[in-house]
Amino acid sequence: MEINGETRLIGILGDPVSHSLSPRMQNAAFDAMGLNITYVPLPVAPAQLEAAVAGLRAMRFIGANVTIPHKVPVSGLLDRLDVSARRAAAVNTIVNDDGVLTGHNTDGAGFIRALTETAVVDFRQAATVIFGAGGAARSVAMALAGAGVPEIALVNRTLAKADELKALIEAEFPAVTVVASVPDAAAARLLSASKIVINATSLGMVGDLKSVPFDVDKLSEGHVVCDLVYTRSTATPLSVAAKKKGATFMGGLQMLLMQGAASTQIWTGKEPPIDVMRKALEP
Ligand code: NAP
Repeated sequence: MEINGETRLIGILGDPVSHSLSPRMQNAAFDAMGLNITYVPLPVAPAQLEAAVAGLRAMRFIGANVTIPHKVPVSGLLDRLDVSARRAAAVNTIVNDDGVLTGHNTDGAGFIRALTETAVVDFRQAATVIFGAGGAARSVAMALAGAGVPEIALVNRTLAKADELKALIEAEFPAVTVVASVPDAAAARLLSASKIVINATSLGMVGDLKSVPFDVDKLSEGHVVCDLVYTRSTATPLSVAAKKKGATFMGGLQMLLMQGAASTQIWTGKEPPIDVMRKALEP
């Protein structure tokens, strides 16, 4: 698409953002949709976040994505939060409606869509174990609870954060049984008893099996294993281990694609070209 006087902007606020795959993916989508929209990286230091958000209004951006480290603090700078952002207590998508900024969070919906594209899962029967209790774990746990998962085990190095997330899930979804634990023998049993196994820690970007937050020998063919961590060029250690064990595997790139497509749909109101976006993520 030629940039001209009519071009509208969408950006991604983060620090850093140079590694982000979203500009590739979103610009490919807008091009295929024939929309005069350009998606730009916006490196913003934490101290400048408020000014950057004011800039989105001033420069009439259509909206923005938000990534590390701004997903939580940006919530307090917006006019409204939709239910997904409120439940996740974090925002990854902003919509600018004539100066009124609304925060959404598409991570959870993106995760569910990527998972259902990968495996046939009856969520009402799918006990789940999530390793990690940060922002990504929270979005995914809330989305799974909303999808009807009956039991969620949260395993995190820092127990207080798992306990905090447990309380949030229970407050929002009282019918879901939630257990919080550190990675110990009991957590290993929770893994064996679960259908869905999720790595929502930041472990696994690089390195060997030591950078998987649990013993991969406990995985079996019946498991649906999801790694939120993604790398574009190499397989994550968990993907290698899960496939070796015959488990069904969903990778972080699939979630990235689907959360991005959900954002595209929110900004444009149109069905996003998933295949074009998927191709843009290929190495
Ligand atoms: P975060 O809020 O910083 O949380 C990080 C989590 O990882 C915490 O639970 C932390 O445990 C745990 N952790 C970090 N280092 C660890 C270690 N050495 N050993 C054990 N646990 C460790 O980050 P986040 O936003 O949730 O992101 C987590 C991962 O998900 C990142 O890799 C991110 O890129 C990925 N992600 C992917 C997508 C996607 O679309 N695929 C979307 C969002 C996030 P403590 O609480 O003990 O510190």
